[in-house]
Amino acid sequence: MNYIELAEKYGTPLYVYDSQKIINNYDRFVQSFDVSNLKLHYAVKALSNISILKLMKSIGAGLDCVSIQEVQLGLRAGFPAKDIIFTPNSISEEEYEKALELGVKMNIDNLQILEYFGVNHPSEPICIRVNPHLMAGGNKNISVGHIDSKFGISIHQMPLVKRLIKNYGIPVEGIHVHTGSDILDPEIFIRASELIFAIAEEMDDLKYLDFGSGFKVKYKKDGMDTNIKKFGQLFGDKFNEFCSETGKELELRFEPGKYLVSESGAFLAKVNIIKQTTSCTFLGLDTGFNHLIRPMLYDAYHEIENISNPDGERKLYTVVGYLCETDTFGSDRILSEVRKNDILRFHNAGAYCFAMSSNYNSRYKPAEVLLHKGEDYLITQRENFDDLVRNQTDPGIDF
Ligand SMILES: *Cc1c(COP(=O)(O)O)cnc(C)c1O
Repeated sequence: MNYIELAEKYGTPLYVYDSQKIINNYDRFVQSFDVSNLKLHYAVKALSNISILKLMKSIGAGLDCVSIQEVQLGLRAGFPAKDIIFTPNSISEEEYEKALELGVKMNIDNLQILEYFGVNHPSEPICIRVNPHLMAGGNKNISVGHIDSKFGISIHQMPLVKRLIKNYGIPVEGIHVHTGSDILDPEIFIRASELIFAIAEEMDDLKYLDFGSGFKVKYKKDGMDTNIKKFGQLFGDKFNEFCSETGKELELRFEPGKYLVSESGAFLAKVNIIKQTTSCTFLGLDTGFNHLIRPMLYDAYHEIENISNPDGERKLYTVVGYLCETDTFGSDRILSEVRKNDILRFHNAGAYCFAMSSNYNSRYKPAEVLLHKGEDYLITQRENFDDLVRNQTDPGIDF
């Protein structure tokens, strides 16, 4: 079934994911590394539908979860708790306790919680999330591990970390770093990783090193992505070298979200209104940033294509949403001539798209469909009015 037929069958706006693209990206990633123990923990926050999680499980991934609810989704998808790493930030002790009860692996992001574990759960094996402050080293190519970032324990506080670990006898089985930024030049990332190797060298209970994510995908046809083959070769060698020099047999971990699912996703929307002004031609869609917020939130670029009229004359458009708010998906885009009710396809709509959707303007969230082995499956149904008012109560106030 093609995308036009899917839009007719399920209605618009609609998210469609192609499982084969996820599988291909996973395989390409894994095959780029020549290390004996490699594990990918898919970052659930990118796209958290349970069918997607089940697909990830079937291809051998673990999960990286940032909230207790993501953990619950992972367990519901059938993951064993040991394959789930819990990497939250700024959460309560109660939430850590819940995650402990569920048996998932703890990634500790701050000294307060490290101390809490030391006092209350000294024998629980944990992972330490390190903030390497890469910007502080003058490197602007990697940007979220910088000195102001709230994530992780500062690399400058490692002496304190070591003291806590020693005093409480906490077994540290993993070191984690996720700068959240783009890995375009593998050599820069590799230089940064040396900071982590230096910490790992002094830890005796270590089982794995987790280098998070930051793998970039192509949003524009001529855009840049991470050269995963080159990265895998260089980094794999570096990792193997570290293991053999220190005599440690470690697992190498990454946590790709975007890299695995971004490209697999298409977002389909219908053109309601074509508005010619003195300056441009607006295309008004049956969706808005309530369904796909990345262009407004991050100034992200999503390729937009008119799949109803692929061979039409090329024309210039500004593509906007239906919200009562500035709601621009793309300005000055060249599309093949658009007619009323044409279907536009947004590319790279797998990661951080449906996952960030909301009910703003009291609109329903869209449906999601998964394409797998030539079949299409509805994996989230479109919301309806009952969904909108489900949690609202009528306390009977006499206004
Ligand atoms: C968001 C996140 C990821 C995934 O990042 P991508 O850019 O989507 O690959 C991985 N690890 C952690 C801890 C995260 O917060």
